Amino acid sequence: MEPNNILVINAGSSSLKFKIFNAGESQTPVLSGLAERLNTPEAELQYRKDDIKEQLNKPNADHKSILLALFELLEQFNLKNSIVAIGHRVVHGGEYFKGPALVNSDTIKKIAACSALAPLHNPANLLGIEAAQQAVPDLPQVVVFDTAFHQSMPEQAYMYALPKDYYQQHSIRKYGFHGTSHDYVSKEAARRLNLDLHNSGIITAHLGNGSSVCAVKNGLSVDTSMGFTPLEGLVMGTRSGDIDPGVLQFLNKQLGLSLDEILNVLNRKSGLLGLSGTSNDMRTLVALSEQGNIDAQIAFSVFCYRLAKTIASYMASLERFDALVFTGGIGENCRPARRTVLNQLKLLGLNINEDLNLANGDELGRISQPDSEGPTAIIIETQEEWMIANATHQLTQAGA
Ligand code: ADP
Repeated sequence: MEPNNILVINAGSSSLKFKIFNAGESQTPVLSGLAERLNTPEAELQYRKDDIKEQLNKPNADHKSILLALFELLEQFNLKNSIVAIGHRVVHGGEYFKGPALVNSDTIKKIAACSALAPLHNPANLLGIEAAQQAVPDLPQVVVFDTAFHQSMPEQAYMYALPKDYYQQHSIRKYGFHGTSHDYVSKEAARRLNLDLHNSGIITAHLGNGSSVCAVKNGLSVDTSMGFTPLEGLVMGTRSGDIDPGVLQFLNKQLGLSLDEILNVLNRKSGLLGLSGTSNDMRTLVALSEQGNIDAQIAFSVFCYRLAKTIASYMASLERFDALVFTGGIGENCRPARRTVLNQLKLLGLNINEDLNLANGDELGRISQPDSEGPTAIIIETQEEWMIANATHQLTQAGA
């Protein structure tokens, strides 16, 4: 049988990441790579296939010429004709998209309409879609949104307590992000733990440079920590997460910072980096903490406490609590953070197994006591691109 290879694209304004999967088969990509510094003389394309790793100079290449170069490469590997569809990661689908969608003129109009909500991301994602339409017009394309999984949140979770016109006229509400990851790891947890997804309560913690937690009730997102933008919620690498808006006024009036400068501080100079004064990287902070660095210890403990507090708050969103999932670079690897958070949540019945935590989980990824009656704590490696490939395959097959 011909492989159903799907090209998954994550386009930024000057970059384009790609992975090719044989959908429904292996989670290991057939080929993967990255184009960077697009539209500059230093533009380059790196790719990896099995043991081959190459870097090609592509001076002044734009998104379209990089995709043409990629398809030339695929031809050399005899893979060109195996690509049956393209799946794109798109950050913001607003209230238009509750799941993946086939690309057509209506889809593109709606993604563009959401650009005001994600000005750094949606226009860049659209560049990737338009480049693919021009480079390989015959291939069907699908878009998968970071926000879509959270469209099942009820009003009580997504409404801000602001004058209601702001929601009705300007779409100001909680949207949530990392949806593809929360969707994947919650389903995977249910599968591994033999839970009935439709009668389950799972909390997923995606902890990377950006971090968010999601309450998943009966397979649906019912609350999440990121909001109108990815700035809300947890302490992150360089983002502050939740903060009293009164601080913004103080920074403006007393320190003379403009709104743009304040947002720059909250997005780029806060979080782990701001608290520690040295690094946004959890690995570095754990090492510094072990050497007795007080600022690194404070950064670590604020990160863990905010995370534990958010998880505990989701007891209000669930009817049962079966599993807590850790994913993302910190969730999958940072043993001290998992230990601290689980110990802070003992009242919820979470019971860590130290050996399993040190081993990054048993064969299923579990790090809680196997005989515990409480919820299972489990590590699951996120597979966002794989999810996009499968959604793309399903949607294009359905339309075929
Ligand atoms: P992104 O959100 O950019 O995809 P990742 O999911 O790769 O980020 O997560 C990056 C974070 O994971 C960094 O803070 C990094 O220090 C942390 N991390 C990766 N490996 C470890 C480790 N072994 N111990 C602690 N933190 C780790």
